[in-house]
Amino acid sequence: MLSSFTWQALPTRVVFGRGTSAALPAEVDRLGGRRVLVHSTPEQAALAERVTQLLGERAAGVFTGATMHTPVDVTARALDVVKANRIDAVVAVGGGSTTGLGKAIALRTDLPQIVLPTTYAGSEMTPILGETQDGRKVTRRDAKIQPEVVIYDVDLTLSLPPAMSALSAFNAIAHAAEALYAPDRNPIVSLMAEEGVRAVVEALPQLQAAPDDADMRASLLYGAWLCACCLATTTMGLHHKLCHTLGGMFDLPHAQTHAIVLPYALAYNAPNIADALASLERAMGADDAVQVLLRLESGCGIPLALRDIGMPHAGIAQAVEQAIANPYANPRPVEADALTDLLERAWSGAGV
Ligand code: NAD
Repeated sequence: MLSSFTWQALPTRVVFGRGTSAALPAEVDRLGGRRVLVHSTPEQAALAERVTQLLGERAAGVFTGATMHTPVDVTARALDVVKANRIDAVVAVGGGSTTGLGKAIALRTDLPQIVLPTTYAGSEMTPILGETQDGRKVTRRDAKIQPEVVIYDVDLTLSLPPAMSALSAFNAIAHAAEALYAPDRNPIVSLMAEEGVRAVVEALPQLQAAPDDADMRASLLYGAWLCACCLATTTMGLHHKLCHTLGGMFDLPHAQTHAIVLPYALAYNAPNIADALASLERAMGADDAVQVLLRLESGCGIPLALRDIGMPHAGIAQAVEQAIANPYANPRPVEADALTDLLERAWSGAGV
Protein backbone atom coordinates (compact mmCIF):
# COMPACT_ATOMS: atom_id res chain seq x y z
CA MET A 1 0.00 0.00 0.00
CA LEU A 2 1.15 3.55 -0.71
CA SER A 3 2.46 5.16 2.50
CA SER A 4 1.14 8.56 3.51
CA PHE A 5 3.27 11.51 2.42
CA THR A 6 3.55 15.30 2.22
CA TRP A 7 4.41 17.03 -1.04
CA GLN A 8 5.36 20.69 -1.24
CA ALA A 9 5.84 22.04 -4.77
CA LEU A 10 8.74 24.40 -5.40
CA PRO A 11 7.83 28.05 -6.12
CA THR A 12 10.64 28.66 -8.65
CA ARG A 13 9.67 29.44 -12.25
CA VAL A 14 11.82 27.45 -14.69
CA VAL A 15 12.62 28.35 -18.30
CA PHE A 16 14.50 25.57 -20.10
CA GLY A 17 16.04 25.18 -23.57
CA ARG A 18 18.71 26.37 -25.97
CA GLY A 19 19.28 30.10 -26.26
CA THR A 20 16.88 30.76 -23.37
CA SER A 21 19.19 33.50 -22.00
CA ALA A 22 17.32 35.68 -24.50
CA ALA A 23 14.31 35.43 -22.17
CA LEU A 24 16.23 37.22 -19.39
CA PRO A 25 15.02 40.79 -20.07
CA ALA A 26 11.38 39.64 -20.12
CA GLU A 27 11.87 37.65 -16.91
CA VAL A 28 13.44 40.67 -15.20
CA ASP A 29 10.46 42.77 -16.32
CA ARG A 30 8.02 40.17 -14.93
CA LEU A 31 9.72 40.57 -11.54
CA GLY A 32 9.59 44.36 -11.80
CA GLY A 33 13.40 44.70 -11.88
CA ARG A 34 14.67 48.06 -13.13
CA ARG A 35 18.20 48.14 -11.69
CA VAL A 36 19.80 44.72 -11.98
CA LEU A 37 23.10 43.44 -10.59
CA VAL A 38 24.75 40.67 -12.62
CA HIS A 39 27.29 38.56 -10.73
CA SER A 40 29.73 35.76 -11.52
CA THR A 41 33.10 34.33 -10.57
CA PRO A 42 36.21 36.12 -11.89
CA GLU A 43 36.65 33.24 -14.40
CA GLN A 44 33.21 33.92 -15.90
CA ALA A 45 33.50 37.72 -16.06
CA ALA A 46 33.20 37.73 -19.88
CA LEU A 47 29.92 35.79 -19.63
CA ALA A 48 28.67 38.25 -16.99
CA GLU A 49 29.48 41.04 -19.43
CA ARG A 50 27.45 39.33 -22.18
CA VAL A 51 24.52 38.92 -19.83
CA THR A 52 24.82 42.56 -18.81
CA GLN A 53 24.57 43.58 -22.45
CA LEU A 54 21.43 41.48 -22.86
CA LEU A 55 19.83 43.49 -20.08
CA GLY A 56 20.40 46.86 -21.76
CA GLU A 57 19.34 49.78 -19.59
CA ARG A 58 18.08 47.43 -16.85
CA ALA A 59 21.73 46.64 -15.96
CA ALA A 60 22.95 48.76 -13.06
CA GLY A 61 26.01 46.87 -11.79
CA VAL A 62 28.36 43.92 -12.22
CA PHE A 63 30.18 42.01 -9.49
CA THR A 64 32.65 39.34 -10.58
CA GLY A 65 34.05 38.33 -7.19
CA ALA A 66 31.90 35.25 -6.41
CA THR A 67 33.96 32.42 -4.96
CA MET A 68 33.62 28.91 -3.53
CA HIS A 69 31.85 28.38 -0.16
CA THR A 70 30.22 31.85 -0.12
CA PRO A 71 32.54 33.68 2.30
CA VAL A 72 30.64 36.41 4.18
CA ASP A 73 33.29 39.05 3.43
CA VAL A 74 32.69 38.59 -0.31
CA THR A 75 28.95 38.94 0.31
CA ALA A 76 29.64 42.17 2.23
CA ARG A 77 31.52 43.58 -0.78
CA ALA A 78 28.71 42.59 -3.13
CA LEU A 79 26.18 44.21 -0.78
CA ASP A 80 28.13 47.48 -1.02
CA VAL A 81 27.62 47.35 -4.80
CA VAL A 82 23.91 46.56 -4.29
CA LYS A 83 23.52 49.58 -2.05
CA ALA A 84 25.65 51.99 -4.06
CA ASN A 85 23.74 51.17 -7.27
CA ARG A 86 20.24 50.96 -5.73
CA ILE A 87 19.88 47.41 -7.09
CA ASP A 88 16.38 45.91 -7.14
CA ALA A 89 17.06 42.44 -8.62
CA VAL A 90 20.07 40.11 -8.87
CA VAL A 91 21.09 37.84 -11.73
CA ALA A 92 23.58 35.03 -11.06
CA VAL A 93 25.34 33.49 -14.03
CA GLY A 94 27.57 30.55 -13.15
CA GLY A 95 27.82 27.44 -10.98
CA GLY A 96 26.91 26.79 -7.36
CA SER A 97 29.46 29.30 -6.05
CA THR A 98 27.90 32.15 -8.01
CA THR A 99 24.37 31.06 -7.12
CA GLY A 100 25.46 31.00 -3.46
CA LEU A 101 26.39 34.68 -3.59
CA GLY A 102 23.00 35.64 -5.07
CA LYS A 103 21.28 33.66 -2.32
CA ALA A 104 23.39 35.35 0.35
CA ILE A 105 22.38 38.76 -1.04
CA ALA A 106 18.71 37.75 -1.18
CA LEU A 107 18.80 36.45 2.39
CA ARG A 108 19.91 39.88 3.60
CA THR A 109 17.85 42.08 1.25
CA ASP A 110 14.94 39.90 0.03
CA LEU A 111 15.73 41.06 -3.52
CA PRO A 112 14.36 38.80 -6.28
CA GLN A 113 16.89 36.48 -7.92
CA ILE A 114 17.21 35.05 -11.40
CA VAL A 115 19.80 32.30 -11.88
CA LEU A 116 21.39 31.16 -15.15
CA PRO A 117 23.18 27.95 -14.10
CA THR A 118 26.30 26.85 -15.97
CA THR A 119 27.04 23.63 -14.02
CA TYR A 120 24.93 20.69 -12.80
CA ALA A 121 25.36 21.36 -9.03
CA GLY A 122 21.68 22.24 -8.57
CA SER A 123 21.90 25.03 -5.99
CA GLU A 124 19.55 27.19 -8.10
CA MET A 125 16.48 25.09 -7.17
CA THR A 126 17.01 25.02 -3.40
CA PRO A 127 16.23 27.26 -0.43
CA ILE A 128 19.60 26.18 1.05
CA LEU A 129 22.66 28.37 1.57
CA GLY A 130 26.06 27.40 2.98
CA GLU A 131 28.17 30.38 4.05
CA THR A 132 31.72 30.48 5.40
CA GLN A 133 33.07 32.69 8.12
CA ASP A 134 36.33 32.20 10.05
CA GLY A 135 36.86 28.83 8.37
CA ARG A 136 33.42 27.48 9.39
CA LYS A 137 30.66 26.69 6.90
CA VAL A 138 27.14 27.14 8.25
CA THR A 139 24.17 25.89 6.22
CA ARG A 140 20.64 27.20 6.55
CA ARG A 141 17.26 26.95 4.82
CA ASP A 142 15.06 30.00 4.34
CA ALA A 143 12.29 30.82 1.86
CA LYS A 144 14.09 34.09 1.03
CA ILE A 145 17.02 32.05 -0.28
CA GLN A 146 14.96 30.28 -2.99
CA PRO A 147 15.52 31.94 -6.39
CA GLU A 148 12.36 33.28 -8.07
CA VAL A 149 13.37 32.31 -11.62
CA VAL A 150 15.86 29.84 -13.09
CA ILE A 151 16.75 30.12 -16.77
CA TYR A 152 18.41 26.90 -17.90
CA ASP A 153 20.20 27.72 -21.15
CA VAL A 154 21.87 24.60 -22.53
CA ASP A 155 24.26 26.80 -24.54
CA LEU A 156 25.81 28.17 -21.33
CA THR A 157 26.89 24.66 -20.28
CA LEU A 158 28.79 23.85 -23.48
CA SER A 159 31.97 25.53 -22.18
CA LEU A 160 32.11 23.49 -18.95
CA PRO A 161 35.14 21.21 -19.45
CA PRO A 162 34.26 17.48 -19.76
CA ALA A 163 35.93 16.41 -16.48
CA MET A 164 34.29 19.24 -14.50
CA SER A 165 30.99 18.41 -16.23
CA ALA A 166 31.24 14.79 -15.17
CA LEU A 167 32.06 15.70 -11.58
CA SER A 168 29.14 18.07 -11.47
CA ALA A 169 26.85 15.42 -12.99
CA PHE A 170 27.78 12.92 -10.24
CA ASN A 171 27.05 15.67 -7.72
CA ALA A 172 23.56 15.83 -9.29
CA ILE A 173 23.09 12.05 -9.15
CA ALA A 174 23.94 12.16 -5.44
CA HIS A 175 20.94 14.46 -4.77
CA ALA A 176 18.56 12.03 -6.47
CA ALA A 177 20.10 8.92 -4.91
CA GLU A 178 19.70 10.23 -1.37
CA ALA A 179 16.20 11.54 -2.08
CA LEU A 180 15.16 7.98 -2.96
CA TYR A 181 15.78 6.89 0.64
CA ALA A 182 15.13 10.18 2.45
CA PRO A 183 12.81 9.99 5.47
CA ASP A 184 10.57 12.59 3.78
CA ARG A 185 10.61 11.03 0.30
CA ASN A 186 7.36 10.90 -1.61
CA PRO A 187 6.15 9.51 -4.94
CA ILE A 188 6.65 12.79 -6.83
CA VAL A 189 10.24 13.20 -5.68
CA SER A 190 10.94 9.56 -6.47
CA LEU A 191 9.65 10.09 -10.03
CA MET A 192 11.91 13.10 -10.43
CA ALA A 193 14.87 11.24 -8.95
CA GLU A 194 14.52 8.25 -11.23
CA GLU A 195 14.01 10.35 -14.35
CA GLY A 196 16.85 12.71 -13.34
CA VAL A 197 19.31 9.84 -12.94
CA ARG A 198 18.13 8.29 -16.22
CA ALA A 199 18.74 11.50 -18.15
CA VAL A 200 22.18 12.12 -16.59
CA VAL A 201 23.40 8.53 -16.94
CA GLU A 202 22.22 8.32 -20.54
CA ALA A 203 24.22 11.44 -21.42
CA LEU A 204 27.41 10.82 -19.43
CA PRO A 205 29.20 8.34 -21.74
CA GLN A 206 29.05 10.86 -24.63
CA LEU A 207 30.57 13.65 -22.59
CA GLN A 208 34.22 12.82 -23.26
CA ALA A 209 33.81 12.14 -26.98
CA ALA A 210 31.47 15.01 -27.90
CA PRO A 211 31.35 17.68 -25.17
CA ASP A 212 29.75 20.13 -27.63
CA ASP A 213 26.79 17.89 -28.43
CA ALA A 214 23.81 20.06 -27.51
CA ASP A 215 21.35 17.15 -27.20
CA MET A 216 23.64 15.42 -24.72
CA ARG A 217 24.11 18.69 -22.81
CA ALA A 218 20.33 19.23 -22.75
CA SER A 219 19.86 15.77 -21.27
CA LEU A 220 22.48 16.45 -18.57
CA LEU A 221 20.97 19.81 -17.69
CA TYR A 222 17.41 18.46 -17.62
CA GLY A 223 18.53 15.57 -15.39
CA ALA A 224 20.48 17.92 -13.15
CA TRP A 225 17.40 20.13 -12.74
CA LEU A 226 15.28 17.16 -11.63
CA CYS A 227 18.00 16.02 -9.24
CA ALA A 228 18.17 19.56 -7.83
CA CYS A 229 14.41 19.47 -7.14
CA CYS A 230 15.05 16.31 -5.10
CA LEU A 231 17.74 18.06 -3.07
CA ALA A 232 15.42 21.02 -2.46
CA THR A 233 12.51 19.01 -1.09
CA THR A 234 13.99 16.11 0.92
CA THR A 235 16.40 15.54 3.79
CA MET A 236 19.80 14.29 2.69
CA GLY A 237 21.60 11.47 4.56
CA LEU A 238 25.07 10.00 5.05
CA HIS A 239 26.47 10.91 1.65
CA HIS A 240 25.74 14.65 1.83
CA LYS A 241 26.64 14.93 5.53
CA LEU A 242 29.92 13.15 4.98
CA CYS A 243 30.83 15.31 1.97
CA HIS A 244 29.97 18.40 3.99
CA THR A 245 32.18 17.20 6.87
CA LEU A 246 35.11 16.31 4.58
CA GLY A 247 34.81 19.51 2.56
CA GLY A 248 34.79 21.66 5.68
CA MET A 249 37.59 19.82 7.53
CA PHE A 250 40.07 19.46 4.67
CA ASP A 251 38.93 22.19 2.28
CA LEU A 252 38.21 19.60 -0.42
CA PRO A 253 36.63 20.65 -3.73
CA HIS A 254 32.84 20.22 -3.67
CA ALA A 255 31.98 18.28 -6.84
CA GLN A 256 35.09 16.06 -6.64
CA THR A 257 34.26 15.03 -3.07
CA HIS A 258 30.68 14.15 -4.03
CA ALA A 259 31.76 12.10 -7.05
CA ILE A 260 34.31 10.08 -5.07
CA VAL A 261 32.18 9.41 -1.98
CA LEU A 262 28.87 8.54 -3.73
CA PRO A 263 29.49 4.85 -4.65
CA TYR A 264 30.93 4.18 -1.18
CA ALA A 265 28.05 5.88 0.63
CA LEU A 266 25.53 3.93 -1.45
CA ALA A 267 27.37 0.67 -0.76
CA TYR A 268 27.31 1.51 2.97
CA ASN A 269 23.55 2.00 2.90
CA ALA A 270 22.89 -0.85 0.44
CA PRO A 271 21.62 -3.40 3.01
CA ASN A 272 18.83 -0.97 4.00
CA ILE A 273 17.83 0.69 0.70
CA ALA A 274 16.58 -2.09 -1.58
CA ASP A 275 13.78 0.05 -3.09
CA ALA A 276 16.09 3.00 -3.76
CA LEU A 277 18.66 0.75 -5.42
CA ALA A 278 15.95 -0.86 -7.55
CA SER A 279 14.87 2.59 -8.65
CA LEU A 280 18.47 3.63 -9.49
CA GLU A 281 18.97 0.38 -11.40
CA ARG A 282 15.81 0.99 -13.45
CA ALA A 283 17.10 4.49 -14.19
CA MET A 284 20.51 3.16 -15.22
CA GLY A 285 19.18 0.18 -17.15
CA ALA A 286 21.56 -2.06 -15.20
CA ASP A 287 21.49 -4.41 -12.24
CA ASP A 288 24.14 -3.04 -9.88
CA ALA A 289 23.88 0.71 -9.32
CA VAL A 290 27.08 0.97 -7.27
CA GLN A 291 29.23 -0.84 -9.81
CA VAL A 292 27.68 1.13 -12.68
CA LEU A 293 28.57 4.36 -10.90
CA LEU A 294 32.16 3.22 -10.35
CA ARG A 295 32.43 2.20 -14.00
CA LEU A 296 30.96 5.45 -15.28
CA GLU A 297 33.30 7.44 -13.05
CA SER A 298 36.41 5.60 -14.16
CA GLY A 299 35.46 6.30 -17.80
CA CYS A 300 35.29 10.06 -17.17
CA GLY A 301 38.93 10.83 -16.37
CA ILE A 302 38.15 12.22 -12.92
CA PRO A 303 39.85 11.60 -9.55
CA LEU A 304 38.61 8.39 -7.93
CA ALA A 305 40.23 8.61 -4.48
CA LEU A 306 40.04 11.15 -1.67
CA ARG A 307 43.83 11.02 -1.36
CA ASP A 308 44.05 12.41 -4.90
CA ILE A 309 42.09 15.54 -4.02
CA GLY A 310 44.06 16.47 -0.91
CA MET A 311 42.60 14.53 2.00
CA PRO A 312 45.30 13.39 4.46
CA HIS A 313 45.11 9.75 5.60
CA ALA A 314 45.45 10.90 9.19
CA GLY A 315 42.17 12.79 8.71
CA ILE A 316 40.04 9.66 8.51
CA ALA A 317 39.75 9.17 12.29
CA GLN A 318 38.98 12.87 12.75
CA ALA A 319 36.30 12.78 10.04
CA VAL A 320 34.67 9.67 11.54
CA GLU A 321 34.56 11.33 14.94
CA GLN A 322 32.88 14.43 13.55
CA ALA A 323 30.47 12.48 11.33
CA ILE A 324 29.33 10.42 14.32
CA ALA A 325 29.10 13.43 16.66
CA ASN A 326 26.19 15.04 14.77
CA PRO A 327 23.41 12.47 14.34
CA TYR A 328 21.14 12.67 11.28
CA ALA A 329 18.59 10.55 9.49
CA ASN A 330 20.16 7.72 7.51
CA PRO A 331 18.70 4.34 6.53
CA ARG A 332 21.62 2.49 8.14
CA PRO A 333 22.96 3.57 11.54
CA VAL A 334 26.20 5.49 11.17
CA GLU A 335 28.78 3.51 13.16
CA ALA A 336 32.46 4.24 13.67
CA ASP A 337 33.96 0.95 12.42
CA ALA A 338 31.86 0.72 9.27
CA LEU A 339 32.37 4.42 8.53
CA THR A 340 36.13 4.04 8.96
CA ASP A 341 36.04 1.20 6.44
CA LEU A 342 34.01 3.37 4.01
CA LEU A 343 36.51 6.24 4.31
CA GLU A 344 39.57 3.98 4.02
CA ARG A 345 38.18 2.66 0.75
CA ALA A 346 37.14 6.05 -0.59
CA TRP A 347 40.51 7.49 0.47
CA SER A 348 42.50 4.94 -1.51
CA GLY A 349 39.94 4.44 -4.29
CA ALA A 350 39.75 0.72 -3.52
CA GLY A 351 36.26 0.25 -4.94
CA VAL A 352 33.44 -1.68 -3.27
P1 NAD B 1 31.57 26.39 -8.97
O1 NAD B 1 30.38 27.25 -9.07
O2 NAD B 1 32.55 26.68 -7.86
O3 NAD B 1 32.33 26.42 -10.37
C1 NAD B 1 33.62 25.84 -10.51
C2 NAD B 1 34.44 26.63 -11.52
O4 NAD B 1 33.92 26.38 -12.82
C3 NAD B 1 34.37 28.14 -11.32
O5 NAD B 1 35.62 28.71 -11.59
C4 NAD B 1 33.36 28.58 -12.37
O6 NAD B 1 33.54 29.91 -12.78
C5 NAD B 1 33.66 27.60 -13.49
N1 NAD B 1 32.52 27.36 -14.37
C6 NAD B 1 31.24 27.17 -14.01
N2 NAD B 1 30.48 26.95 -15.10
C7 NAD B 1 31.30 27.01 -16.18
C8 NAD B 1 31.10 26.84 -17.57
N3 NAD B 1 29.91 26.55 -18.10
N4 NAD B 1 32.18 26.98 -18.38
C9 NAD B 1 33.41 27.22 -17.88
N5 NAD B 1 33.66 27.38 -16.55
C10 NAD B 1 32.62 27.27 -15.71
O7 NAD B 1 31.20 24.84 -8.86
P2 NAD B 1 29.83 24.09 -8.54
O8 NAD B 1 30.21 22.68 -8.33
O9 NAD B 1 28.79 24.43 -9.52
O10 NAD B 1 29.35 24.72 -7.17
C11 NAD B 1 29.96 24.39 -5.95
C12 NAD B 1 29.42 25.25 -4.84
O11 NAD B 1 28.00 25.23 -4.85
C13 NAD B 1 29.85 24.77 -3.46
O12 NAD B 1 30.17 25.89 -2.64
C14 NAD B 1 28.61 24.07 -2.92
O13 NAD B 1 28.54 24.06 -1.51
C15 NAD B 1 27.51 24.88 -3.55
N6 NAD B 1 26.24 24.12 -3.72
C16 NAD B 1 25.18 24.52 -3.00
C17 NAD B 1 23.98 23.86 -3.11
C18 NAD B 1 22.78 24.35 -2.33
O14 NAD B 1 21.68 23.86 -2.52
N7 NAD B 1 22.96 25.33 -1.46
C19 NAD B 1 23.84 22.77 -3.98
C20 NAD B 1 24.96 22.37 -4.72
C21 NAD B 1 26.17 23.06 -4.59
